[in-house]
Amino acid sequence: MSDNINTLLRQIPKVDELLAHPQFASTNKALLTNATRQVLTDLRTGILQSKITNIPSADEIASDVATVLAISNRPNLQRVINGTGIILHTNLGRAPLAKAAVDAITNTALGYSNLEYSVPEGKRSSRHVIVEDLLTKLTGAKAAMVVNNNASAVLLALSAVAKNKDVIVSRGELVEIGGSFRVPDVLAQSGSQLVEVGTTNKTHLADYEKAILANDRYSLGPGALLRVHTSNFIISGFTTKPTLEELSALAAEHSLPLIEDLGSGCMIPLGEYGIHGQPTVAESVKAGVDVITFSGDKLLGGPQAGIIVGRKEYIAKMKSHPLARAMRIDKLCLAALEATLRLYLDPKTAVREIPTLQMLCETQDNLFEKAERLADKLSPHATVIAETSQAGGGAIPEENFSTAAVIINADVSAQALEKHFRSGPIPIIGRISKDRFILDVRTLCDDDFPVIVSRLSAFSQIV
Ligand SMILES: *Cc1c(COP(=O)(O)O)cnc(C)c1O
Repeated sequence: MSDNINTLLRQIPKVDELLAHPQFASTNKALLTNATRQVLTDLRTGILQSKITNIPSADEIASDVATVLAISNRPNLQRVINGTGIILHTNLGRAPLAKAAVDAITNTALGYSNLEYSVPEGKRSSRHVIVEDLLTKLTGAKAAMVVNNNASAVLLALSAVAKNKDVIVSRGELVEIGGSFRVPDVLAQSGSQLVEVGTTNKTHLADYEKAILANDRYSLGPGALLRVHTSNFIISGFTTKPTLEELSALAAEHSLPLIEDLGSGCMIPLGEYGIHGQPTVAESVKAGVDVITFSGDKLLGGPQAGIIVGRKEYIAKMKSHPLARAMRIDKLCLAALEATLRLYLDPKTAVREIPTLQMLCETQDNLFEKAERLADKLSPHATVIAETSQAGGGAIPEENFSTAAVIINADVSAQALEKHFRSGPIPIIGRISKDRFILDVRTLCDDDFPVIVSRLSAFSQIV
């Protein structure tokens, strides 16, 4: 080791000296000691590798310690800015909540609540009743309950209704939804037996009927028909499947339940906003489906939840099933779900107040106006362009929405820009399209603008 390195190593301040720095008079000693050790270790490594050739001043080291402390105090689950344009981005937490839902969470979280207590009767009650009336009113179903997410809703429905029996599913619906929800695996977990019918592209009513009547040595006897919304992919072209009405009539004829995993669970028709082809929960109820399950945090725009609506006899079986306790929804999600569902009592209010619907139904004019405002603040480093985006969360896969975005102009690669925007105190997640870094304004709100502006100005290589 050279003399110079030895000299430098000897000059490294002691941990105790730094702990006494006036800047840290009121800092927690344990956290401060850890941060200081880390900074001094980095300093020693830098000297040994000859990357550091001067010992920084005590103030400079203190400032490095303060940075390490600030980073370690940052929560692991933090706010990010979604500039991808994907409204229901599962990796970014799916649906942002309506203000009313956030207020309901706060009210419930700060104190006690009647979660499982009937105030008029002065005795124990069930959390299942809290949103049941709202759900039956909004969907036309006779009964409803809520669990922790749609994956558990499907598992509970199959376990309670079809355990040790055959569940008949079209081969075109044996899908995998993002995050490893696979229909055949869920069926296996429920203890029911998967009976595949039809082909990938065509399944006829007669295929279901044949499976119901099958009496071979593999058959456990029919337990249910299952229809799965294929959510994130489409089969188009030479295809056939029975309508829900036809399936439900066949199920009824054989006294079997028809279960539908609807995935996204759209609560109101969105045709007047230009969103077509998304089945609503009420349509499935009307078609005679016996049990319908869907997510709370996809198109519904609420908290994570698995909603089950359907006939009383089946919902009653699920409420008393042991799995229901293992999958029960937490009170904060329930509070947010109730508040979100209340907004649906007036569809216009729902579209205005629920961020998911509001972003989905945003007009082109408003999107371009928003993009112009953002580009203005980033001027002259941004250009407005027309782009396309997706709903995400397995909702409406066939639709590419026209949207507006800003390109960030800088003299570096799109990858370098992407990394820079992602690495700030509030990460900004954008998209790379045709070798340019873009922020899609559909999923941005005005509060995000100052953060984006500040992050751009922290970039030294802008042209
Ligand atoms: C998203 C989805 C699920 C899983 O729902 P979670 O609420 O994420 O558990 C199940 N089935 C379908 C068809 C889906 O689209």
